This record gives sequence, C-alpha cells and structure tokens, in this order.
Amino acid sequence: MRADGTPLPPGESPLARALAGEPVDPSVWHVLRPDGTRIALRCTAVPVKGADGQVAAALLRTHAVDALPAPVLDASRLLAEAGALLGASVDAEARLEPLLKLLVPTLGEGALLVLRTPGGAAGEEALRVAASLHADAGRHSLLRELLTRYPLDPSAPGGLPGVFVSGAVGRLPILSEEHIAAIARDAEHARLMREVGPHGCLSVPLGARGNVLGSLMLLRSNVLRVFGAEEEHFLTELAHRTALYLENARLYREAREAVRQRDEFLGIASHELKTPLTPLSLKVQLLQKQVVVLAREGKEVPTERVAEALDVVQRQVRRLSGLVDNLLDVSRITAGRLRLELEELDLASVAAEILYRFSPAAAQAGTELGLEAPVPVVGRWDRLRLEQVVTNLVSNALKYGAGQPVIVGVEAHGTLARLTVKDHGIGIAPDDLARIFERFERAVSDRHYGGLGLGLYITRQIVEAFGGTVSAVSTPGQGSTFILELPRGDIPEEWISAHAAPGPTQGE
Ligand code: ADP
Repeated sequence: MRADGTPLPPGESPLARALAGEPVDPSVWHVLRPDGTRIALRCTAVPVKGADGQVAAALLRTHAVDALPAPVLDASRLLAEAGALLGASVDAEARLEPLLKLLVPTLGEGALLVLRTPGGAAGEEALRVAASLHADAGRHSLLRELLTRYPLDPSAPGGLPGVFVSGAVGRLPILSEEHIAAIARDAEHARLMREVGPHGCLSVPLGARGNVLGSLMLLRSNVLRVFGAEEEHFLTELAHRTALYLENARLYREAREAVRQRDEFLGIASHELKTPLTPLSLKVQLLQKQVVVLAREGKEVPTERVAEALDVVQRQVRRLSGLVDNLLDVSRITAGRLRLELEELDLASVAAEILYRFSPAAAQAGTELGLEAPVPVVGRWDRLRLEQVVTNLVSNALKYGAGQPVIVGVEAHGTLARLTVKDHGIGIAPDDLARIFERFERAVSDRHYGGLGLGLYITRQIVEAFGGTVSAVSTPGQGSTFILELPRGDIPEEWISAHAAPGPTQGE
C-alpha cells in the first residue's frame, strides 16, 4: 500500500511492475501484517530477462525502514474539552455530535457513537447510531446513508456490532474486500461500504456503573496509522466519561418524570379526597342548622333525619378511609412492609362474602352479580389481603361494567386456585392492559371516573406476595376479565386430589 494508507491497485506493486519489464527505483512501500501492525519496506525491483530477451523473473530487494512517527495525542486537553462540552447541557445526547468533532480528523477520519436501546417485548437487543461524523463531506453522507439504510445488527456474525453489546474493545485492522464480502447483506450494502472506503476501526465500550450503554468507534482511512495502546487508553477513558454523562442525563430525565407523576398524582389525590368531604360537610351543616332551629322552638330533631344524615356521613367517611388506606398501603409496599398472616381459607367463600357485601351497591346500580364456584377451593392466604384483592376487582367491575352483569368464578387447577372477575363494560385498550397494574396508572379520564389508579397496583403487589399472578384480557367496548392465579400454599397434595373440582378442570 501507499504511504497514505490507501491500498495499491494490483498492477502497481513493485513486483508486478518489474515483471512487466519496468525497473523500480528504491522507494518506500508499506505492508499490513495479518495482526494489524504494519511495516515500512524500502524496495528495489529489477526485471530479469531470459535467453529469449523476455522478462522471465523479477528480483525484489527489500529491507525494513523505521516505523512512522506516532501522532501526538494531547489526551488531557481533549478530555477537558470533552468534559466542558458534555457538562454544558443536562441533555448530554445533544452534545454527542460536537464531541465527535474533537476526535475527527485529529485521531481518525471518522467516528460513530452507538447506543443500545432497551430490548422490546421479546427482549431483543437493538442499536441506535446517536452520532456519526466523517472528515470528508462526501464520505460523511455515504456513511450516514449506509447507517440509515443498513441499521447495525448486533447479532450479525463477523461484524463489529456485537462488540457494541458485549462491552469489549474491538479492533478491525482494515475493512478489506473479504470482510465486506463476509458481512454485506446485499450488493448495495457492499457497494456503500466500498464507497465509504477502506477503514481501520477501533471500538471501545461506553461503560458506566456496570452498564454497557453502547460503544464509541473511531474510523481511520489511513490504515498505516495503527491504533496504539495510548490511543486506546484515551478513547476508553473518553467513552467512560461520556457514558457517565449519558447515564446522569437518563437519571435526571427519570427523576423529572417521577416528579411530574407525583405532582399529577397529588392533584388527583386531593380531588379524590375532597370529593367525599363535600357531601359530608353539607350534611353536617344542615343537621347543625336544624338542631339550632328546632332547639329554639323547644323541639327535638326527628330520629329519621339524624339517621339519614348519619348514613351519608358514614358512607363518605368509609370512602375517605378507603382512600387513605390505599395511600398507606402504597407506602407500606414501597417500604417493603407488606406483612401477610397466612391461614387456611376457602377462596369460594371469600368471593361469596365479598359479593354479598357488594349486593346493595349492585342492586342500586341495577347490576346483576353472579358467582360460579361449584366447590370449595382451599389454600393458605392472608384473609384481609385476599378480601382486599377480590374487593378491588369486583368494585372495578361494577365501576367500569356499565351496569351489565358481573360474574365471579372460582375454580381449582391442581395446586393453583383461580378466580376470575368478568364484566361486560367499557373494556381496556390493548396498549393499556399492562400499564394499569402500575402505580398511579389509569386508562380512563378522571372527568368520567374517579379513582387514584392504585387499586390494581396494590392488587398486583399483594398477589405477587402470595406468589401468584393477576392479569386481564379485554375487548374495548365489550368488557374485561381479570384473572387471579394463586398457589394454594402448603395444602397436602392428597387433600387437593381428594377434593379436586369435578369436570373439565380436573387434573389440569
Ligand atoms: P382506579 O380505578 O382508581 O383508577 P385501578 O388501579 O383500580 O385504579 O385501575 C386502574 C385503571 O384500570 C382504571 O383507571 C381503569 O382505566 C382500568 N380498569 C380497571 N378495571 C377495569 C375494568 N373492569 N374495566 C375497564 N377498565 C378497568
């Protein structure tokens, strides 16, 4: 290859020229060794003619000359500049492009900053090019085109992307024709790689607090300038600092989001807590006035009026204490203080009891409540917490059930107890199904339905403390079914098989 690192076309090598009959004067050529290092050779080539006067061979004389001087690297200045750049904004990602400008063209002709993006539902890894730069304007656009049309695939064999995920330092002495042939996805991909030109690459991990966020990659078109240990050390340090800034920016974003959620929740909570207070204080004020007026007339307040007012007061106080209990539960759960007192219980009886408690409210709303629990389903659970879970699911079914029938089913599946609550109400959009079990998450407007968005969160936490699961299936506009599955605890196997539910569920 030439002194600037560009490969030599086959016909231009000293040997080829001598074989073609041309004496080659002493000149310096460079050879890339398989380990990525290179040597400079001074060569002379002379054609050797045969008896017929034709060139039959070539005499090649070579000897090694001193290596090229290593470029001067002012690491501390570059690190200080990078720190000032990244620290100038809380959004470190917006500063990545200028960061690459510190490296290009001083240390290499091109640079890329690749970030891992959290895996999707299937947990597959994805990579995103957060910044890219090439000193040559034409190659800069080609590089962008290459990265946009052929996104990096961490699982692709042979390529560097795997390094972005593994957190290892990767080196590619040169993106040779053979390498292109091995990794190109199609002819167009190969063409773009060729047009960007042969480059050597050094890739270092963006590691912060034990996480690999991605990779910083330096491209060099002068492949004679092998990446030295000092450069690798500098780049690793720069990548580490960049990763810390990126990680801090992410934590800052998360903290802001948490504060936003908390403020939103405080707004909803104050509204929810105030709602029962209005009828409560109105009733008390009215009763007070009546007492005063009637006392002036020397009369007593009729018992029915007091009883009716106390009824309202009691209902609203119950509602208030329910809300406060929910808030206390959340702080207990967050602090890991959810304690369970296990005892032997029949889930079918618990469900029947809760439905009985809801029957006045259901009758008032004109909602039919049904229970399908053919046999007792015994397990070891905490009574109050189990009641709380069933209450949450049934009260939601009534609240969002649009007055349509609500059916609660209880059955045994071997060592699992299953309770389902089925309504025919507004339903839940597929995108909201997982979210509604999170803290403060709601999938309805607070103008139409009151609530703190805590019931299902608390439900899931309790169910998980029992070692079980809660999930929902739903068709928007047609209703939802919430499914609770609880291990039955240390109930003897023989007892379970002796009391197994009859019918199709047996032995499942
Ligand atoms: P809240 O009912 O106080 O908002 P929950 O945690 O109990 O809080 O429920 C969270 C969200 O889940 C509700 O806001 C609602 O959007 C949705 N949801 C819960 N149960 C049902 C149901 N049976 N039908 C439709 N949507 C429901």
